[in-house]
Amino acid sequence: MSSLELRNVNKNYGSYHALRSIDLSVEQGEFIVMVGPSGCGKSTLLKSIAGLETISSGQILINGRDVSKAEPGERGIAMVFQSYALYPHMTVAENMGFGLRMAKRPKAEIDAAVAQAAKILRITDQLDKRPKQLSGGQRQRVAIGRAITRSPDVFLFDEPLSNLDAALRTQMRVELSGLHAELGATMVYVTHDQIEAMTMASRIVVLNKGAIEQVGSPLELYRNPDNLFVAGFLGAPRMNFLGVTVDETSGNSIRVSAPGLSPLTIELATPAHLSKGTALTLGIRPENISVVTDGSEAAVSGHVRLVEHLGRETILYVDAGNLRTVASESGTGNITVQLSYVAPFKAEQPVALKLDAGQLYLFSPDGGHTISARKAIIER
Ligand code: ADP
Repeated sequence: MSSLELRNVNKNYGSYHALRSIDLSVEQGEFIVMVGPSGCGKSTLLKSIAGLETISSGQILINGRDVSKAEPGERGIAMVFQSYALYPHMTVAENMGFGLRMAKRPKAEIDAAVAQAAKILRITDQLDKRPKQLSGGQRQRVAIGRAITRSPDVFLFDEPLSNLDAALRTQMRVELSGLHAELGATMVYVTHDQIEAMTMASRIVVLNKGAIEQVGSPLELYRNPDNLFVAGFLGAPRMNFLGVTVDETSGNSIRVSAPGLSPLTIELATPAHLSKGTALTLGIRPENISVVTDGSEAAVSGHVRLVEHLGRETILYVDAGNLRTVASESGTGNITVQLSYVAPFKAEQPVALKLDAGQLYLFSPDGGHTISARKAIIER
């Protein structure tokens, strides 16, 4: 039996279709991260699971029980919000025990649950303080503690780290992963931050325009994105997308070319029935491009527009002349290269770029689903 099951869930706000036929089955103990750009419906979906929004159609089951029409308090969930939502006049201990007090549990049980949660979250010495005496990270721990004391079937997190500074976010990511391992609880976590998704999730659900684009483990999605949206959403700096045209087909092989790019012969894993003249999008991640001194190895050449020295790595933004980039905010001709070393490049410097032929993605023109490429040969 699934811990949480969403069956054909739809949500309309008037004529606006905010959730489109959402199907998802979550196993006991999974850490599911729902990720997607602002406005894709993440919060609406989480609130629908929590019972803070009513769904327009479909079913929500928690531990096999249909809770689609149940009140939030009857669903067996506990939610942690970005804003912490603590009561300012209550102490940390009172905030953490609030849910159990409302449920009229005996005092001894509440005290024990609060003490246990405080120990797990290492805030035992803060129990008598009020929220305003705590740092942002400590407040969020109290909010998580309040959820833990209720021993919910499913924990729901709505962008809980967004109000914290970068260093604390990193620390809390590690702590949340540890907490998940310790509690073995089912957690559903919403964020727009793909790093949080990649680092914490057992499985990531990528949402776009109210629909699920793909569900899978972080590395499955990173390595085998179903479409251009998922490929572009996961990974920072994001994948480069180049506009290419099929200029030859032979069996399962195609040859593609584009201005500013050496022609590529690509062997497809499955027949794609592409005809000559078809426009495709070629994807390559920044870490799969290298700078070569021997120009004969290069598939693209250009000059450095901007260098970012990040210490252990260097990001180059290269102006590759008339190379046609698509689906990108960086503009035509721009290609991003991520080098895992300190590279002494300077703006305006000419560079020759080699693409790792084993790491190319091809996307169809119609909505960008991935065409499976087995290997590519880059012609010189
Ligand atoms: P996300 O959390 O992914 O940023 P939301 O779930 O908050 O997105 O919103 C999804 C879409 O639904 C947005 O376009 C938003 O404007 C719309 N929406 C959210 N809540 C309401 C509401 N109460 N009434 C009308 N439209 C809403």
